[in-house]
Amino acid sequence: MLFMKAMLLDRITDLSENPAPLRLAELPMPAPQASEVLVKVSVCGICHTELDEIEGRTPPAHFPIVPGHQVVGTVEQLGPGVQYLRRGERVGVAWIFSACGKCRFCLGGQENLCEAFRATGRDANGGYAEYMTVPEDFSYKIPALFSDAEAAPLLCAGAIGYRSLRLCRLKNGQALGLTGFGASAHLVLKMARHRYPGSPVYVFARSEKERLFALELGAVWAGDTTDAPPEKLQAIIDTTPAWKPIVEALRHLDSGGRLVVNAIRKENTDKDYLLQLDYPAQLWLEKEIKSVANVERRDVQEFLQLAAEIPIRPEYEEYPLEAANTALMELKAGRIRGAKILRVSAST
Ligand SMILES: [Zn+2]
Ligand SMILES: [Zn+2]
Repeated sequence: MLFMKAMLLDRITDLSENPAPLRLAELPMPAPQASEVLVKVSVCGICHTELDEIEGRTPPAHFPIVPGHQVVGTVEQLGPGVQYLRRGERVGVAWIFSACGKCRFCLGGQENLCEAFRATGRDANGGYAEYMTVPEDFSYKIPALFSDAEAAPLLCAGAIGYRSLRLCRLKNGQALGLTGFGASAHLVLKMARHRYPGSPVYVFARSEKERLFALELGAVWAGDTTDAPPEKLQAIIDTTPAWKPIVEALRHLDSGGRLVVNAIRKENTDKDYLLQLDYPAQLWLEKEIKSVANVERRDVQEFLQLAAEIPIRPEYEEYPLEAANTALMELKAGRIRGAKILRVSAST
């Protein structure tokens, strides 16, 4: 039997007490089932959602599990009945690992809401490993423009950012806000500037460094979470793990504006802040709040095309697979500029 290296999560754990949640292990190589392919992983992006999986805010379906849902690699082996992919092709794997394809959501163009939705690296083994399997229909061609390392962060932060921007229903010229300025938000800023060239973008971020980065990337204004922008905003995308930015953002929404919350779970630390919600100032006048759940395949496909067209080339920091714990702890501590990726094998 052939074995591979993988970083495994054995149980839910508190990262403030356990700085090494993942264990390096040798696992049997997975075998592709019907319509699946075996992917030799080149690079896997590191996502804030991994922290949510580890700490139990979005718990894995079973243990142990190999995390990681921004995977770029090459097809190594074809399972029975594979139709489109060939050995040696470069593919990407994103958060959506599979959906049933039969329910009202799948048939109605909302496969992200399917009750049988399975997430890569949470409900099925992901890319913190030398190999993984994936249904061929849930893999993506990567535009040739991108290196493996550049493509990986696009697969989650980019795709979900694209979905968040779509859900804003912005028209060119209308003001957009971004509260929180991590990997996803910096990609959204680039997309917004391309798609809505007449729309000013306002960024709210706690750290001075993030605010400067936002201005470098073309935001017209950058302030602290509680600062007031010079105009009301038609839509604001929240990518923070906290509640305070939501309450503050609602204050700056224009009448009929929409707050899009792009966070898989919110942490409970500052939940009390919600009590400061003032109905007339923050919700009345038809302000809306909409969350973003998962992604559809079309979000990933459309975003990869858009990213190649702009082009968006994410800035990234590279870590070896074995250093996944270090990278995760740095992410937890907020030491971020651009995206973090694990280098699993040399690019082909
Ligand atoms: Zn992610
Ligand atoms: Zn379904």
